[in-house]
Amino acid sequence: MNNVVTIEEMFGQNVFSLGKMRERLPKNVYKEVKKVMTLGGELSMATANVVAKEMKDWAVENGATHYTHWFQPLTGITAEKHDAFVTHPDEDGKMITEFSGKELIKGEPDASSFPSGGLRATFEARGYTAWDITSPAFLKESACGLTLCIPTAFCSYTGEALDKKTPLLRSMEALSEQAMRIVRLFGDTEAQKVVPSVGAEQEYFLVDKDLYMQREDLMFAGRTLFGAPAPKGQEMEDHYFGVIKERVGAYMKDLNTELWKLGVTAKTQHNEAAPAQHELAPIYETANIAGDHNQLVMEAMKRVAYKHDLRCLLHEKPYAGVNGSGKHDNWSLTTDTGVNLLDPGDTPNKNIRFLFVLACVMKAVDNHADLLRQSAADVGNDHRLGADEAPPAIISIFLGEQLEDVVKQLIETGDAKKLKESGKLETGVSTLPDFEKDATDRNRTSPFAFTGNKFEFRMVGAADSIASANTTLNAIVAEAFCEAADRLENADNFDMEVHDIIKEYMTKHQRIIFNGNGYSEEWVAEAAKRGLPNIKSMIEAAETLTTDKAVALFEKFGIFTKVELESREEIIYETYAKTINIEALTMIDMAGKKIIPAVVKYTKCLADTVVAVKGAGVDASVQIELLKEASEKLARMQSALKQLETCEKEAGRITNAKEQAFFYKDTVMPAMEALRTPADELEMIVDKAMWPIPTYGELMFEV
Ligand code: ADP
Ligand code: MG
Repeated sequence: MNNVVTIEEMFGQNVFSLGKMRERLPKNVYKEVKKVMTLGGELSMATANVVAKEMKDWAVENGATHYTHWFQPLTGITAEKHDAFVTHPDEDGKMITEFSGKELIKGEPDASSFPSGGLRATFEARGYTAWDITSPAFLKESACGLTLCIPTAFCSYTGEALDKKTPLLRSMEALSEQAMRIVRLFGDTEAQKVVPSVGAEQEYFLVDKDLYMQREDLMFAGRTLFGAPAPKGQEMEDHYFGVIKERVGAYMKDLNTELWKLGVTAKTQHNEAAPAQHELAPIYETANIAGDHNQLVMEAMKRVAYKHDLRCLLHEKPYAGVNGSGKHDNWSLTTDTGVNLLDPGDTPNKNIRFLFVLACVMKAVDNHADLLRQSAADVGNDHRLGADEAPPAIISIFLGEQLEDVVKQLIETGDAKKLKESGKLETGVSTLPDFEKDATDRNRTSPFAFTGNKFEFRMVGAADSIASANTTLNAIVAEAFCEAADRLENADNFDMEVHDIIKEYMTKHQRIIFNGNGYSEEWVAEAAKRGLPNIKSMIEAAETLTTDKAVALFEKFGIFTKVELESREEIIYETYAKTINIEALTMIDMAGKKIIPAVVKYTKCLADTVVAVKGAGVDASVQIELLKEASEKLARMQSALKQLETCEKEAGRITNAKEQAFFYKDTVMPAMEALRTPADELEMIVDKAMWPIPTYGELMFEV
């Protein structure tokens, strides 16, 4: 038993944590690092040199050969360029590794090949990565060996953010500044900052490698572009929380080990609603680190899958007709002294500061529902939102019965005297414990649900970075706090003003509260009546970034400049067009080279049979009927293929990015659908032995 490695020993093994810094750095250096980490500011070069040396020594002692500035360009995933710690050998040919403070703090990757939305022409290639001291460096284990990864922000030569991290960090500072005003106004003299805490639950699918390799759509697009439904889907509800299969269990075990070593608090794992769908949830942490860690989770999920001859699909809708994958972004606000501003306590109706913060969140979400929806937009999520297992594209807030009642009383009378009690849960079995129920039931159909002491933003897509969602949340709440603080700081009577603000905000923004079934048709109609935006697609949401309202918000708090917002809008159109283009080309390839030839063979086989059967003097009407049906669908498929090819070419000729994106959505996507329909119908009638690609049943049940 003595070679057991405990979870405690494993945890954070590959992280250059504060603890390791305390052990290795001189006291004054450690103190300076910790101060900059928590309160901001810049490290002196002398200090950076010492940190760099210790970081490098630690990495090399652990077997690292390379380092990289690890960053998050606007591709939505991470980027790294490895440099070995090697230096010029001396006369004797001996080489001593070196790593300077300058190398730690600043990197200069060529920025020209990352999306910039016109911010930077290819000839102005300079981009910089800057060390993000607030997120710990770590060692990544891969076939490359061990690489020291230094989390960094990525900016252009002229200082514009080219990544997801920079705006997130800016938004965290803005939010802290405004929230601190509120905290102080409510009498807290100790807290120094307010931090958004985030816990991102990650859903994913696993698929067998050999089956995956037979599907170009999975390989190139990450989702199936053809495929008839399997006889069994998720209707039995037997997969959710079901017993984890051995092969999946082995995968999860390796995945957890990798993540724990990287300091990711992988906590919960379970089977999700669809067959072969699973979830992993870590414990929440500071938004920035949660964002970095979620990237590591996604990366590790894919990497570990290879070791198990599996592939991990993070696409929001890999299979039509079954549950898609999302990422629940749990968000709350905590002071550095550990007070959660969203904790209602036992008597939320009496907790004025909580009600005040709640009123501000209601106002923020209602005023900027469009931006929040945009922050969760990506190409794959267009297939998931509103597709009856995910929240619709309409933003609303779920508060639960108890809080909704408190809000109602506040709106009606300005005072919430009563509190609906949750009561005891009685099981009716004497040997089982009776316990206090939670104040609210769950509502899994809400895109933005209050769940006890945090909001759960459920719209985010599984493959997407959580940075945009949290940047937007931080920004809109900072604005609401700022406006409220302006009033409070100038009020003659603080208590009265607080009371008025709560009543006013809740009254004005009550339309954003919805506790009913968000998946229902009635809600879509009701939301329209309330004037809530229902933005169906990613590219329709893109322009919300550059409205006067959005520019004013983001510029006021120094989170994005107008130019940065415009570039991001542009990138959305480009990304969308490129993605759908790949999907369309993949369909053309699969239809033309695999499916149509297979059906042609099948019809020949049927035709031969007809002749043979007739020759034998037997009735061949069944074979003839089948042949007719297959031939008719084949003809439809061939004509849809030609149509898609034509649309594709036309799309390629459009030069304006926005126009092109809309052409892909409005013309190319329907042409893709028209090609898929007869193909899926054919799959249902063609001899299984002749069908050229693995079926939904195989993909989802053979893991
Ligand atoms: P639920 O079952 O309601 O989804 P969990 O307790 O399982 O809630 O938490 C889901 C995620 O929310 C986890 O990542 C968890 O760490 C995170 N979480 C819990 N409390 C908070 C909080 N105060 N702020 C942010 N995230 C939180
Ligand atoms: Mg949850």
